[in-house]
Amino acid sequence: MEYISTRGSAPTLDFEGATLAGLASDGGLYLPRKWPRFSAAEIRDLRGCEYWEVAVAVMKPFVGKSLTEAELIEICQQVYGKEFSHAAVTPLVQLDGQHWLLELFHGPTLAFKDVALQMLGRLFDTFLKRRDERLTIVGATSGDTGSAAIRGVAGSERVEIFMLHPQGKVSDVQRRQMTTVRAPNVHNLAIDGSFDDAQAHVKRMFGDADVTGTLNLGAVNSINWARLMAQVVYYFYSALQLGGPDRKIAYSVPTGNFGDVFAGYVASRMGLPIETLVVATNINDILRRAINEGDYSAGGVTPTITPSMDIQVSSNFERLLFDAGGRDGAAIAQQMHGFEKAKTMALTNAQRVGMKDLFRSFRADQDQTARAMQWAHAASGQIIDPHTAVGLSAAQDMVADDSIDPTVPIVTLATAHPAKFPDAVERAVGVRPALPQRVGDLFGREEHFTELSGDYEAARDFVLQNASAD
Ligand SMILES: *Cc1c(COP(=O)(O)O)cnc(C)c1O
Repeated sequence: MEYISTRGSAPTLDFEGATLAGLASDGGLYLPRKWPRFSAAEIRDLRGCEYWEVAVAVMKPFVGKSLTEAELIEICQQVYGKEFSHAAVTPLVQLDGQHWLLELFHGPTLAFKDVALQMLGRLFDTFLKRRDERLTIVGATSGDTGSAAIRGVAGSERVEIFMLHPQGKVSDVQRRQMTTVRAPNVHNLAIDGSFDDAQAHVKRMFGDADVTGTLNLGAVNSINWARLMAQVVYYFYSALQLGGPDRKIAYSVPTGNFGDVFAGYVASRMGLPIETLVVATNINDILRRAINEGDYSAGGVTPTITPSMDIQVSSNFERLLFDAGGRDGAAIAQQMHGFEKAKTMALTNAQRVGMKDLFRSFRADQDQTARAMQWAHAASGQIIDPHTAVGLSAAQDMVADDSIDPTVPIVTLATAHPAKFPDAVERAVGVRPALPQRVGDLFGREEHFTELSGDYEAARDFVLQNASAD
């Protein structure tokens, strides 16, 4: 399988190259040149398969010759056979006659990002060993990505990870999930500054010749194609449980960077019958305006009780604009450069038509989010996290709108375990969710992190002094 950039001028790469590259050199994002297609009969053949078997079938055409089938099977068995605490990996839970939850939080850090980052860690190791190379990952996190990325690569002999977080500005659970991991290749840096400062430092390192001259830098944010690929699997797996491919399913996806919901779009392009993809946003709703009105304009970010969805610009939306709008790389490059300058752009007619049949979007404010948590608790005794609640609220809005056939199951993606956000959950439903036993004594373990001033040089020098050069 060949991978091309959404901006049309970066070299095409194979799966291995796209996985290690992250962002394309022209500033675009990698996508497969063609979508693999599964017939209904081929999808039906996956009924009754275990999660790892569905993962192998879905990923195989994307991986191409970069892994042998035996290597792919081994990685999928390791990741989806061992690292998740539920035998079904991503189990479904029924809320009422039409609404379901797809629990994506049974991985080591209790958020859906584990499903992909556990896989990405294994892929990095396999490819780096083959090339006899090392990779230095530098990332900035406001919470979930950092801990899942650290757990994905902890203990790797080929990967070193430096994760910057804004000191005092991530939750205790999230910080401890990063700082209590003891592995020689893991470095936590607490920056005196904001998340934006930390992210700016990381971006600057990627363009700093002193860093790139000695280190082979890699990225783990959701621009990495391999992460999206791993997320396509649970759309297939859940649809099979609910009668797919002989029945259409709708999905409601709590959305930030548009990675998770784009994976649903990929599943649909591959032949999985999906009725609707609901892009659920909090009050930071640039995506809702883009989908419903064709107006993609960034404003300021307002902090909410769903921090992983507090975004201004959704990097993966570029992939949808490219694919739904006719795959014109030169035009996307121009459109995105215009957006980077003006912070606003209008979608083209082709882009609007290309997404109109599959996508709907609703937003939930804080009261609607709390009401969805209360409804799930009252209807079926389920305690859900606020991000999941934004998704459920949007799913209910779609039903109230009379815009979905009542026989179509609506699956809301449960993106985090409620115990990651105990205060918001307790305020809404009066119950403080306990951390599952498997995360162990998170609050008893020793933390390891280095405090740094907010200066770029402090972060850069720490990375240069502590990374093992290639
Ligand atoms: C990352 C995250 C999201 C947003 O997912 P995207 O792929 O960025 O759209 C939603 N909920 C939770 C809990 C997350 O950690």
